[in-house]
Amino acid sequence: MESGATTHTQLVERAKRHAKTVALPIDYSMVSWEVSERARRRAGQCLYNARTGAVTIRLTWAAFEAYGWEQFSGVVRHELVHAWEFQQFGESNHGRRFTKKAREVDAPCSCERFTDGRLTLSCTEERCEWRAERHRASTVVTNPGRYRCGACQSRLVVTHVASGKSWQSEAGYERARKRIDDEW
Ligand SMILES: [Zn+2]
Ligand SMILES: [Zn+2]
Repeated sequence: MESGATTHTQLVERAKRHAKTVALPIDYSMVSWEVSERARRRAGQCLYNARTGAVTIRLTWAAFEAYGWEQFSGVVRHELVHAWEFQQFGESNHGRRFTKKAREVDAPCSCERFTDGRLTLSCTEERCEWRAERHRASTVVTNPGRYRCGACQSRLVVTHVASGKSWQSEAGYERARKRIDDEW
């Protein structure tokens, strides 16, 4: 698919250009970029080969299409923080060092798990992996404060995938719903 390949190249070029504007001391000669058509559950991924020092940043095409560039650029910055940690410390996770750096470059602090659903429910506890998808505004979506995480009992956060808006209460839902308006 020629047009697809061209578009993938464009996404990588855009991500590379964006990376240059992000204030992180990364050796880009050791970073390669890929676009995944198959990945469905992560918006992006950063891989590291400890033996060679090579870093690979893999961007999920479906996530870019669903988010649009504005939101997706946050995914790029998130993966760059991983690349920086790998190069500086030989390891990377979502710990304090990561969170601090992610905030500095305005990147989301957790690996965004991408979904085809319109709405996602996830746990507010950073280390908890629990999540679920919803397509309609059920009670847990409109009033998440009444529910708890199925895995650890922490509070839930609902995210409207297309707009990136999220809320944890009924009032928060009402406000987000108004702002999202036509895009809902
Ligand atoms: Zn991550
Ligand atoms: Zn949880």
